[in-house]
Amino acid sequence: MTIDVVDWQAAVQAIADSDQAVISCHVHPDGDALGSALALHRALANAGRKPVVSFSEPFMVAPQYRFLPGIEDLTPPDQVSRAADLFVCFDVGSLDRLGSLVDAFEGAVRTVVIDHHASNTRFGDVNLVDPSAPASAVLCRELLRRLGLPLDGDIATALYTALVTDTGRFQYQATVPDTHLLAAELLSAGVDQYEVSKAVFETNDIGYLRLLADVLGRLQQVPAVSLVWTVVSEADLAVHGIDMEQTEGLIDLVRTDGASDVAAVLKEQADGAYKVSLRSKGGANVGQLASAFGGGGHALAAGFTSDAGVEDTLRRIVEGLGAQARDRDRDRDRDGNRARDRDRGR
Ligand code: 5GP
Ligand code: MN
Repeated sequence: MTIDVVDWQAAVQAIADSDQAVISCHVHPDGDALGSALALHRALANAGRKPVVSFSEPFMVAPQYRFLPGIEDLTPPDQVSRAADLFVCFDVGSLDRLGSLVDAFEGAVRTVVIDHHASNTRFGDVNLVDPSAPASAVLCRELLRRLGLPLDGDIATALYTALVTDTGRFQYQATVPDTHLLAAELLSAGVDQYEVSKAVFETNDIGYLRLLADVLGRLQQVPAVSLVWTVVSEADLAVHGIDMEQTEGLIDLVRTDGASDVAAVLKEQADGAYKVSLRSKGGANVGQLASAFGGGGHALAAGFTSDAGVEDTLRRIVEGLGAQARDRDRDRDRDGNRARDRDRGR
């Protein structure tokens, strides 16, 4: 871990000193965001504290996460104090990602940011940021240990859900032996792993499956930049009667195109903007690309929101990927020239 012990101590102190911590995560929470927030909430509640857990409007939990223990403890964001003594957030790379809770964060006396995004802007009073962590849940587990708060089955289930989703079921590049050791610890603490798998990966609305047929049917490849992409419109959702929250796993199918390094899914929002999900298999740095468009994320998984239409958004993505490829070629040529010069004894 790359987090300084001083920062861990500051976070532990801030949480120990707080009366009523507000715990949150990013807008449209995924398993890692929600699982980490619920885990800390439950651990503090078990210790007799009065924490509040919430996330931004649209205050809707994606169906696959509704089984999570503690979901009923979520407080609507408009009922969250704007003057809490502590605000802790998980998996939030930049302040804007708190959505309608930005003012609650800004009004809090102290703030702790716990995250694993390389693009994290370190916007808290205390920042526990480790880009090598495969999930924010790994940092949450370490925080609980340092707080002396024990696991129970519900906390372990929330953390396991976070871990299994953010690692893509332990298959992405950030997965290391410690990731499996943590999974083993959580399972031993009472997780019913098949219950998690069934809810998160094995249960789809028939409307979503039919939407997949439409959306995958219009997949397009841009071989020049090794990109595969598709778009989900508001009309698609209406036709099949599903919410955009249910399309989180779509990018995982699109990225399996064996001919493409980068996958993009453009999701139309109610206001006409597009939320763009990007994944890379290691060639392109999509985190850098997303940051250039005002978003962020990790080198291999990132996103941003675009006000331009589909055509312009795609053109910019292709241009950005093209520029990255040219930079990589240039670096390779330079390294090659250096090696040649060295070999010639220059
Ligand atoms: P997803 O494509 O699953 O929504 O997001 C992939 C990764 O990029 C996640 O780690 C997510 O937190 C991050 N991400 C997605 N959209 C944005 C955005 O608009 N801004 C920032 N800073 N990060 C984003
Ligand atoms: Mn995460």
